[in-house]
Amino acid sequence: MLRHTVTLIPGDGIGPETSAAMQRVLEAAGAPIDWEIAEAGAHLMESEGTPLPQSTIEAVKKNKVAIKGPVTTPVGTGFRSVNVALRKTLELYVNLRPNISMPGAGGRYDDVDLVIVRENSEDLYAGIEFEQGSEDASELISFCAEKGAGIIPLDSGISIKPISITGSRNIVKYAFDYALAQGRKKVTAVHKANIMKHSDGLFLRVAREVAKEYEGRIAFEDKIVDAFCMNMVIDPSQFDVVVLPNLYGDIASDLCAGLVGGLGIAPGANIGKDYAVFEAVHGSAPDIAGQDKANPTAEILSAAMMLDHLGERECAGRIRAAIREVYAQGDHLTGDIRWATGSSAPAASTTEFTDALIAAL
Ligand code: ATP
Repeated sequence: MLRHTVTLIPGDGIGPETSAAMQRVLEAAGAPIDWEIAEAGAHLMESEGTPLPQSTIEAVKKNKVAIKGPVTTPVGTGFRSVNVALRKTLELYVNLRPNISMPGAGGRYDDVDLVIVRENSEDLYAGIEFEQGSEDASELISFCAEKGAGIIPLDSGISIKPISITGSRNIVKYAFDYALAQGRKKVTAVHKANIMKHSDGLFLRVAREVAKEYEGRIAFEDKIVDAFCMNMVIDPSQFDVVVLPNLYGDIASDLCAGLVGGLGIAPGANIGKDYAVFEAVHGSAPDIAGQDKANPTAEILSAAMMLDHLGERECAGRIRAAIREVYAQGDHLTGDIRWATGSSAPAASTTEFTDALIAAL
Protein backbone atom coordinates (compact mmCIF):
# COMPACT_ATOMS: atom_id res chain seq x y z
CA MET A 1 0.00 0.00 0.00
CA LEU A 2 1.24 3.49 -0.85
CA ARG A 3 2.39 5.37 2.24
CA HIS A 4 2.65 9.13 2.62
CA THR A 5 5.30 11.04 4.56
CA VAL A 6 3.77 14.06 6.24
CA THR A 7 5.44 16.80 8.27
CA LEU A 8 3.85 17.16 11.70
CA ILE A 9 4.34 20.47 13.50
CA PRO A 10 2.85 19.98 16.97
CA GLY A 11 3.15 23.71 17.78
CA ASP A 12 2.71 25.01 21.32
CA GLY A 13 -0.07 25.65 23.86
CA ILE A 14 -2.62 22.85 23.41
CA GLY A 15 -0.95 21.87 20.11
CA PRO A 16 1.18 18.97 21.42
CA GLU A 17 -1.90 17.46 23.13
CA THR A 18 -4.25 17.77 20.15
CA SER A 19 -1.50 16.57 17.79
CA ALA A 20 -0.78 13.49 19.91
CA ALA A 21 -4.51 12.66 19.97
CA MET A 22 -4.69 13.11 16.19
CA GLN A 23 -1.71 10.77 15.67
CA ARG A 24 -3.31 8.09 17.88
CA VAL A 25 -6.58 8.30 15.92
CA LEU A 26 -4.90 8.12 12.51
CA GLU A 27 -2.87 5.14 13.62
CA ALA A 28 -6.00 3.37 14.93
CA ALA A 29 -7.75 4.11 11.62
CA GLY A 30 -4.87 2.50 9.72
CA ALA A 31 -4.00 5.70 7.86
CA PRO A 32 -0.88 5.00 5.75
CA ILE A 33 1.05 7.98 7.10
CA ASP A 34 4.68 8.25 8.23
CA TRP A 35 5.32 11.31 10.34
CA GLU A 36 8.30 13.61 10.25
CA ILE A 37 8.22 15.92 13.24
CA ALA A 38 9.26 19.57 12.81
CA GLU A 39 9.09 22.22 15.49
CA ALA A 40 7.62 25.70 15.61
CA GLY A 41 6.49 27.81 18.52
CA ALA A 42 7.36 30.06 21.42
CA HIS A 43 9.37 27.32 23.17
CA LEU A 44 12.08 27.53 20.46
CA MET A 45 13.02 31.13 21.20
CA GLU A 46 15.83 30.20 23.57
CA SER A 47 17.39 27.36 21.58
CA GLU A 48 16.77 28.61 18.01
CA GLY A 49 16.27 32.34 18.45
CA THR A 50 13.12 32.10 16.31
CA PRO A 51 9.69 30.47 16.65
CA LEU A 52 9.85 29.39 12.98
CA PRO A 53 13.20 27.72 12.14
CA GLN A 54 14.23 27.47 8.50
CA SER A 55 14.54 23.70 8.99
CA THR A 56 10.78 23.52 9.64
CA ILE A 57 10.01 25.38 6.40
CA GLU A 58 12.40 23.06 4.54
CA ALA A 59 10.69 20.00 6.07
CA VAL A 60 7.30 21.14 4.75
CA LYS A 61 8.80 21.90 1.35
CA LYS A 62 10.31 18.43 1.20
CA ASN A 63 7.12 16.52 2.04
CA LYS A 64 4.72 19.05 0.43
CA VAL A 65 2.01 18.17 2.96
CA ALA A 66 2.00 19.13 6.65
CA ILE A 67 -0.36 19.19 9.58
CA LYS A 68 0.23 21.79 12.21
CA GLY A 69 -0.92 22.51 15.73
CA PRO A 70 -1.41 26.13 16.84
CA VAL A 71 1.66 28.32 17.23
CA THR A 72 1.88 31.35 19.52
CA THR A 73 3.87 34.30 18.23
CA PRO A 74 5.98 35.66 21.10
CA VAL A 75 6.37 39.46 21.12
CA GLY A 76 9.67 40.92 19.93
CA THR A 77 10.51 38.12 17.51
CA GLY A 78 10.32 40.15 14.34
CA PHE A 79 7.18 38.21 13.34
CA ARG A 80 3.72 39.75 13.41
CA SER A 81 2.46 36.19 13.23
CA VAL A 82 4.30 32.90 12.74
CA ASN A 83 1.21 31.46 11.06
CA VAL A 84 1.01 34.33 8.56
CA ALA A 85 4.78 34.04 7.91
CA LEU A 86 4.44 30.33 7.12
CA ARG A 87 1.51 30.94 4.80
CA LYS A 88 3.44 33.68 2.99
CA THR A 89 6.69 31.72 2.67
CA LEU A 90 4.92 28.68 1.23
CA GLU A 91 2.50 30.82 -0.84
CA LEU A 92 -0.52 29.14 0.70
CA TYR A 93 -3.06 31.52 -0.82
CA VAL A 94 -6.18 29.54 0.11
CA ASN A 95 -7.58 29.05 3.57
CA LEU A 96 -10.30 26.42 3.43
CA ARG A 97 -12.64 26.03 6.38
CA PRO A 98 -15.60 23.64 6.11
CA ASN A 99 -18.42 24.07 8.62
CA ILE A 100 -20.81 21.16 8.97
CA SER A 101 -23.42 20.70 11.71
CA MET A 102 -22.66 17.78 13.98
CA PRO A 103 -25.48 16.43 16.16
CA GLY A 104 -24.42 16.62 19.82
CA ALA A 105 -21.79 19.35 19.32
CA GLY A 106 -24.00 22.17 20.60
CA GLY A 107 -24.39 24.03 17.33
CA ARG A 108 -27.27 26.46 16.92
CA TYR A 109 -28.41 24.71 13.73
CA ASP A 110 -28.53 21.16 12.46
CA ASP A 111 -28.45 21.98 8.73
CA VAL A 112 -25.21 23.92 8.25
CA ASP A 113 -23.02 22.60 5.45
CA LEU A 114 -20.90 25.38 4.06
CA VAL A 115 -17.28 25.99 3.19
CA ILE A 116 -15.44 29.22 3.82
CA VAL A 117 -12.76 29.95 1.20
CA ARG A 118 -10.65 32.75 2.63
CA GLU A 119 -7.97 34.61 0.68
CA ASN A 120 -4.81 34.05 2.67
CA SER A 121 -2.12 36.41 1.42
CA GLU A 122 -3.26 39.99 1.02
CA ASP A 123 -5.79 42.51 2.37
CA LEU A 124 -5.15 44.08 5.81
CA TYR A 125 -3.10 40.97 6.66
CA ALA A 126 -0.38 42.03 4.23
CA GLY A 127 1.32 43.56 7.25
CA ILE A 128 1.95 46.98 5.70
CA GLU A 129 1.56 49.24 8.69
CA PHE A 130 2.75 52.65 9.85
CA GLU A 131 3.06 53.28 13.54
CA GLN A 132 1.24 56.25 15.06
CA GLY A 133 3.70 59.12 15.53
CA SER A 134 6.33 57.72 13.12
CA GLU A 135 7.91 59.83 10.39
CA ASP A 136 6.57 57.43 7.76
CA ALA A 137 3.03 57.75 9.08
CA SER A 138 3.23 61.53 9.00
CA GLU A 139 4.66 61.46 5.43
CA LEU A 140 1.79 59.24 4.33
CA ILE A 141 -0.72 61.55 6.01
CA SER A 142 0.78 64.54 4.18
CA PHE A 143 0.80 62.60 0.88
CA CYS A 144 -2.92 61.81 1.21
CA ALA A 145 -3.73 65.43 2.03
CA GLU A 146 -1.66 66.72 -0.95
CA LYS A 147 -3.32 64.28 -3.36
CA GLY A 148 -6.77 65.28 -2.11
CA ALA A 149 -7.33 61.64 -1.07
CA GLY A 150 -8.61 62.63 2.34
CA ILE A 151 -7.66 64.08 5.69
CA ILE A 152 -6.22 61.58 8.14
CA PRO A 153 -5.96 62.82 11.74
CA LEU A 154 -2.30 63.44 12.58
CA ASP A 155 -2.32 61.11 15.56
CA SER A 156 -3.35 58.07 13.45
CA GLY A 157 -1.71 54.70 13.01
CA ILE A 158 -2.25 53.32 9.50
CA SER A 159 -2.71 49.83 8.04
CA ILE A 160 -2.83 49.37 4.27
CA LYS A 161 -5.38 47.13 2.56
CA PRO A 162 -4.03 45.90 -0.80
CA ILE A 163 -6.32 43.69 -2.90
CA SER A 164 -5.02 42.65 -6.31
CA ILE A 165 -6.63 41.34 -9.50
CA THR A 166 -4.29 38.33 -9.40
CA GLY A 167 -4.99 37.51 -5.75
CA SER A 168 -8.75 37.91 -6.20
CA ARG A 169 -8.80 35.86 -9.40
CA ASN A 170 -6.81 33.04 -7.82
CA ILE A 171 -9.02 32.74 -4.77
CA VAL A 172 -12.35 33.07 -6.60
CA LYS A 173 -11.26 30.55 -9.21
CA TYR A 174 -10.23 28.18 -6.43
CA ALA A 175 -13.70 28.56 -4.86
CA PHE A 176 -15.46 27.74 -8.15
CA ASP A 177 -13.18 24.79 -8.96
CA TYR A 178 -13.64 23.48 -5.42
CA ALA A 179 -17.44 23.82 -5.78
CA LEU A 180 -17.34 21.87 -9.05
CA ALA A 181 -15.06 19.14 -7.67
CA GLN A 182 -17.15 18.70 -4.52
CA GLY A 183 -20.53 18.69 -6.29
CA ARG A 184 -21.58 21.93 -4.65
CA LYS A 185 -24.06 24.30 -6.24
CA LYS A 186 -23.35 27.93 -5.40
CA VAL A 187 -20.55 30.38 -4.68
CA THR A 188 -21.22 33.53 -2.64
CA ALA A 189 -18.64 36.35 -2.79
CA VAL A 190 -18.59 38.54 0.33
CA HIS A 191 -17.29 42.14 0.29
CA LYS A 192 -17.87 45.75 1.25
CA ALA A 193 -17.61 47.08 -2.29
CA ASN A 194 -20.10 49.87 -1.66
CA ILE A 195 -17.58 51.56 0.68
CA MET A 196 -14.11 50.32 -0.34
CA LYS A 197 -14.48 50.67 -4.09
CA HIS A 198 -10.83 50.19 -5.06
CA SER A 199 -10.13 47.12 -2.91
CA ASP A 200 -13.38 45.26 -2.22
CA GLY A 201 -14.86 46.77 -5.39
CA LEU A 202 -12.03 45.21 -7.39
CA PHE A 203 -12.53 41.87 -5.62
CA LEU A 204 -16.23 41.91 -6.55
CA ARG A 205 -15.56 42.90 -10.18
CA VAL A 206 -13.10 40.03 -10.56
CA ALA A 207 -15.50 37.62 -8.81
CA ARG A 208 -18.25 38.53 -11.29
CA GLU A 209 -15.87 37.99 -14.23
CA VAL A 210 -14.78 34.60 -12.94
CA ALA A 211 -18.40 33.61 -12.22
CA LYS A 212 -19.21 34.05 -15.95
CA GLU A 213 -16.70 31.28 -16.76
CA TYR A 214 -18.79 28.88 -14.66
CA GLU A 215 -22.25 30.06 -15.76
CA GLY A 216 -24.75 27.20 -16.02
CA ARG A 217 -22.60 24.98 -13.81
CA ILE A 218 -22.24 26.85 -10.50
CA ALA A 219 -24.61 29.60 -9.35
CA PHE A 220 -23.15 32.89 -8.13
CA GLU A 221 -24.31 35.65 -5.82
CA ASP A 222 -22.61 38.38 -3.84
CA LYS A 223 -23.35 39.74 -0.38
CA ILE A 224 -22.18 42.78 1.54
CA VAL A 225 -20.29 41.53 4.59
CA ASP A 226 -22.63 43.00 7.22
CA ALA A 227 -25.73 41.56 5.53
CA PHE A 228 -23.88 38.27 5.12
CA CYS A 229 -23.23 38.09 8.89
CA MET A 230 -26.88 38.73 9.66
CA ASN A 231 -28.00 36.12 7.10
CA MET A 232 -25.53 33.62 8.51
CA VAL A 233 -27.05 33.94 11.95
CA ILE A 234 -30.66 33.82 10.69
CA ASP A 235 -30.31 30.99 8.16
CA PRO A 236 -26.84 29.57 7.44
CA SER A 237 -28.34 26.76 5.35
CA GLN A 238 -28.70 29.19 2.41
CA PHE A 239 -24.89 29.25 1.93
CA ASP A 240 -22.77 26.67 0.16
CA VAL A 241 -19.26 27.85 -0.83
CA VAL A 242 -18.41 31.34 0.45
CA VAL A 243 -15.36 33.23 -0.83
CA LEU A 244 -14.02 36.22 1.06
CA PRO A 245 -11.00 38.53 1.25
CA ASN A 246 -8.63 37.78 4.12
CA LEU A 247 -9.99 39.78 7.06
CA TYR A 248 -13.70 39.10 6.48
CA GLY A 249 -12.78 35.43 5.98
CA ASP A 250 -11.04 35.35 9.35
CA ILE A 251 -14.02 36.83 11.16
CA ALA A 252 -16.66 34.86 9.24
CA SER A 253 -14.96 31.54 9.88
CA ASP A 254 -15.08 32.02 13.65
CA LEU A 255 -18.73 33.06 13.31
CA CYS A 256 -19.42 29.86 11.34
CA ALA A 257 -17.51 27.78 13.90
CA GLY A 258 -19.75 29.25 16.59
CA LEU A 259 -22.86 28.21 14.67
CA VAL A 260 -21.82 24.56 14.53
CA GLY A 261 -20.40 24.10 18.06
CA GLY A 262 -17.32 26.27 18.49
CA LEU A 263 -13.60 26.36 17.83
CA GLY A 264 -13.04 22.90 19.28
CA ILE A 265 -14.57 21.26 16.19
CA ALA A 266 -13.58 23.63 13.36
CA PRO A 267 -10.98 22.22 10.93
CA GLY A 268 -9.02 24.05 8.27
CA ALA A 269 -6.41 23.87 5.55
CA ASN A 270 -3.97 26.29 3.96
CA ILE A 271 -3.41 25.39 0.36
CA GLY A 272 -1.10 26.69 -2.35
CA LYS A 273 -0.01 25.52 -5.78
CA ASP A 274 2.87 23.44 -4.35
CA TYR A 275 2.16 22.82 -0.66
CA ALA A 276 -0.71 22.20 1.76
CA VAL A 277 -0.68 22.76 5.52
CA PHE A 278 -3.66 21.49 7.49
CA GLU A 279 -4.52 23.11 10.82
CA ALA A 280 -7.44 23.66 13.17
CA VAL A 281 -9.05 27.10 13.18
CA HIS A 282 -8.38 27.60 16.89
CA GLY A 283 -5.28 29.13 18.48
CA SER A 284 -3.01 27.79 21.20
CA ALA A 285 -5.58 28.29 24.03
CA PRO A 286 -2.94 28.94 26.73
CA ASP A 287 -5.64 28.95 29.44
CA ILE A 288 -6.12 25.18 29.12
CA ALA A 289 -2.72 24.09 27.76
CA GLY A 290 -1.04 21.11 29.41
CA GLN A 291 -4.17 20.11 31.36
CA ASP A 292 -5.54 17.32 29.15
CA LYS A 293 -8.67 19.43 28.60
CA ALA A 294 -8.39 20.49 24.96
CA ASN A 295 -10.81 19.22 22.37
CA PRO A 296 -8.74 17.51 19.62
CA THR A 297 -11.71 17.20 17.20
CA ALA A 298 -10.69 20.21 15.10
CA GLU A 299 -7.20 18.84 14.53
CA ILE A 300 -8.52 15.33 13.83
CA LEU A 301 -11.02 16.73 11.30
CA SER A 302 -8.14 18.74 9.77
CA ALA A 303 -6.28 15.44 9.46
CA ALA A 304 -9.34 13.96 7.71
CA MET A 305 -9.14 16.85 5.20
CA MET A 306 -5.46 15.99 4.77
CA LEU A 307 -6.32 12.35 4.09
CA ASP A 308 -8.84 13.47 1.43
CA HIS A 309 -6.11 15.63 -0.09
CA LEU A 310 -3.78 12.60 -0.18
CA GLY A 311 -6.47 10.48 -1.84
CA GLU A 312 -7.19 8.44 1.32
CA ARG A 313 -10.91 9.21 1.23
CA GLU A 314 -12.14 5.94 2.69
CA CYS A 315 -9.96 6.33 5.78
CA ALA A 316 -11.02 9.99 6.16
CA GLY A 317 -14.67 8.94 5.91
CA ARG A 318 -14.28 6.33 8.66
CA ILE A 319 -12.68 8.88 10.99
CA ARG A 320 -15.49 11.39 10.36
CA ALA A 321 -18.12 8.70 10.93
CA ALA A 322 -16.49 7.71 14.25
CA ILE A 323 -16.40 11.36 15.38
CA ARG A 324 -20.10 11.76 14.57
CA GLU A 325 -20.84 8.60 16.51
CA VAL A 326 -19.00 9.80 19.64
CA TYR A 327 -20.78 13.18 19.51
CA ALA A 328 -24.21 11.62 18.91
CA GLN A 329 -23.64 9.20 21.77
CA GLY A 330 -22.55 12.10 24.00
CA ASP A 331 -20.86 10.39 26.98
CA HIS A 332 -17.26 11.40 26.30
CA LEU A 333 -17.27 15.03 25.22
CA THR A 334 -14.75 17.68 26.28
CA GLY A 335 -15.50 20.77 28.39
CA ASP A 336 -15.94 23.20 25.50
CA ILE A 337 -18.75 21.03 24.09
CA ARG A 338 -20.34 20.55 27.52
CA TRP A 339 -20.36 24.35 27.78
CA ALA A 340 -21.76 24.80 24.23
CA THR A 341 -24.55 22.29 24.87
CA GLY A 342 -25.32 23.68 28.35
CA SER A 343 -24.75 20.21 29.77
CA SER A 344 -23.80 19.65 33.42
CA ALA A 345 -22.40 16.17 32.69
CA PRO A 346 -18.72 15.81 33.62
CA ALA A 347 -16.30 16.83 30.87
CA ALA A 348 -14.10 14.15 29.33
CA SER A 349 -10.37 14.77 29.16
CA THR A 350 -8.54 14.92 25.83
CA THR A 351 -7.36 11.37 26.48
CA GLU A 352 -10.82 10.02 27.39
CA PHE A 353 -12.38 11.59 24.30
CA THR A 354 -9.61 10.14 22.12
CA ASP A 355 -10.03 6.68 23.70
CA ALA A 356 -13.78 6.82 22.96
CA LEU A 357 -13.08 7.84 19.38
CA ILE A 358 -10.62 4.99 18.89
CA ALA A 359 -13.18 2.57 20.37
CA ALA A 360 -15.78 3.86 17.88
CA LEU A 361 -13.33 3.30 15.05
P1 ATP B 1 -5.50 33.07 18.10
O1 ATP B 1 -5.34 34.54 18.18
O2 ATP B 1 -4.21 32.33 17.92
O3 ATP B 1 -6.57 32.62 17.14
P2 ATP B 1 -7.10 33.17 20.45
O4 ATP B 1 -6.48 33.49 21.78
O5 ATP B 1 -7.91 34.20 19.77
O6 ATP B 1 -5.98 32.57 19.51
P3 ATP B 1 -7.85 30.48 20.84
O7 ATP B 1 -6.51 30.20 21.38
O8 ATP B 1 -8.26 29.81 19.61
O9 ATP B 1 -8.08 32.00 20.61
O10 ATP B 1 -8.90 30.13 21.94
C1 ATP B 1 -9.87 30.97 22.50
C2 ATP B 1 -10.50 30.17 23.64
O11 ATP B 1 -11.30 29.11 23.10
C3 ATP B 1 -9.43 29.50 24.48
O12 ATP B 1 -9.06 30.32 25.51
C4 ATP B 1 -10.08 28.22 24.91
O13 ATP B 1 -10.73 28.40 26.14
C5 ATP B 1 -11.09 27.92 23.81
N1 ATP B 1 -10.57 26.89 22.89
C6 ATP B 1 -9.92 27.08 21.73
N2 ATP B 1 -9.60 25.93 21.15
C7 ATP B 1 -10.05 24.97 21.97
C8 ATP B 1 -10.01 23.53 21.94
N3 ATP B 1 -9.44 22.86 20.92
N4 ATP B 1 -10.56 22.86 22.96
C9 ATP B 1 -11.15 23.51 23.97
N5 ATP B 1 -11.22 24.85 24.07
C10 ATP B 1 -10.67 25.58 23.08
